[in-house]
Amino acid sequence: MSECVFCQIVAGTVPSQKVLDTERVLVFHDIRPQAPVHVLVIPKQHIASAHALQAEHATVLMDMHLAAQQAAEQLGIAQDGYRLVTNVGWHGQQTVPHLHYHLLGGRQLQWPPG
Ligand code: 5GP
Ligand code: ZN
Repeated sequence: MSECVFCQIVAGTVPSQKVLDTERVLVFHDIRPQAPVHVLVIPKQHIASAHALQAEHATVLMDMHLAAQQAAEQLGIAQDGYRLVTNVGWHGQQTVPHLHYHLLGGRQLQWPPG
C-alpha cells in the first residue's frame, strides 16, 4: 500500500471530509483548517509537487483548477475571493509530498505570507 497519506485518502483507506470527487480530482477539508474555509484540491494521480509537473499533466492540472472554482462556489467564497496556493519543498513548507492546492477563504487573508 502507498505510504502517501493523500494516495490513501484517494483509495479510501484514510477517511476524509469530501467536498468534490471527480474523475481525476478530489477536494476535501484540511484536517487543521487555517481559515473558515480551508480545503485541499489534489489530483488522484500521485504527483510529488508543482515542481514535478510535466506537459503530460496539463489535463489533470486544468481539472484541479476547475474543481477549485467549483468548490469555491459550493463553499460560498467565490464572490468575496479566496487564495489558491501550493507549497513546494522544504523552504515552501510542503509537508505532504503529493501535489495539492490549499483553497482558503471566508476571512480577509494577509499578504505577504510569512
Ligand atoms: P502542506 O503543508 O504540504 O502545504 O499541506 C499539507 C496539508 O495537509 C496541511 O494543511 C495538513 O493540515 C493537511 N493534512 C495532513 N494530513 C492530513 C490528513 O490525513 N487529512 C486531511 N484532511 N488533511 C491532512
Ligand atoms: Zn500520493
